[in-house]
Amino acid sequence: MVTNGNERVLRVLLAQPRGFCAGVERAIEIVQRALDLFGPPVYVRHEIVHNKHVVESLRAKGAVFVENLSDIPEGAVTIFSAHGVPEAVQVEAERRNLPTIDATCPLVSKVHKEGQNQAQRGREVILIGHDGHPEVEGTRGRIPGGVHLVSSPDDVATIQVRNPEQVAYVTQTTLSVDETRDIIAALKRRFPKIVGPDVKDICYATQNRQSAVRKLVGVADILLVVGSRNSSNSNRLREIGTEMNIPSYLIDDANALDPRWLDGVSTVGITAGASAPEELVLELIHRLGDFGKVEVSEIGGIEENMHFKLPSNLNEMAAHLKAQERSEA
Ligand code: SF4
Repeated sequence: MVTNGNERVLRVLLAQPRGFCAGVERAIEIVQRALDLFGPPVYVRHEIVHNKHVVESLRAKGAVFVENLSDIPEGAVTIFSAHGVPEAVQVEAERRNLPTIDATCPLVSKVHKEGQNQAQRGREVILIGHDGHPEVEGTRGRIPGGVHLVSSPDDVATIQVRNPEQVAYVTQTTLSVDETRDIIAALKRRFPKIVGPDVKDICYATQNRQSAVRKLVGVADILLVVGSRNSSNSNRLREIGTEMNIPSYLIDDANALDPRWLDGVSTVGITAGASAPEELVLELIHRLGDFGKVEVSEIGGIEENMHFKLPSNLNEMAAHLKAQERSEA
């Protein structure tokens, strides 16, 4: 512990980059724009992004989060979350004439296309990802013939394929870069002719945040990751800290900080998952001020300038629905 006279000094090092990625910014903006254009309620299938605070703040403005389309009333504006949806969900929405806006991150859609292209070429597709994650459900439901899911090098041994010479792989966008490399190596040993993108499906935001955390844990005593438990990329950030042998905690917000974690600590490393708002990081720094004088600095890292356009049908849909309302009046 560093002390200054009687006062404790806590050094806070912030990872750079951290927090919101372009896909999350776009998805939140889509819900906000939809609320502005159509008025509440708008329905969102699944949490728009995996962050409790983001979901609560949009819920307060009139977004209704549901897991099943059957919970959405006829004709209600429906948004698909950033994680993407299986094709069957889109077909069901069309069958029910739900006006839909797709907030799937363009980088997730890119993985869908890659998988579809491989399937069209007659290859069986292996998806590296976590069972039960909505992105994985979306991707497996977009690839004709389905996919084989693997989550670890051990899983690779049990896959049964029709033709080992005709296989391809794609990956979830929010995985650990290192673990994914190990799984790809296992796939290449078992299927020497397998084709795939290496770790390029893992999105820029996931990769950049993981590199930034590696720098941080070299100089911090503990790592605090701001993010929700169901956020895949946030979990990976905490795991990196643990693998690099510093106590690492994933917390939703400053209220979850346990003062005991700070015993004997002089440098606190902080990062935030791709769906965690910066204001939560600021609140956490503020809370650390209860335990000593806080000196904040940022570790230099990659500058991100990524920006994704909003879906083009947002304004068209609003105009169409308004015209419909006028003609019915
Ligand atoms: S984490 Fe990556 S894939 Fe997911 S929304 Fe952000 S940019 Fe898109």
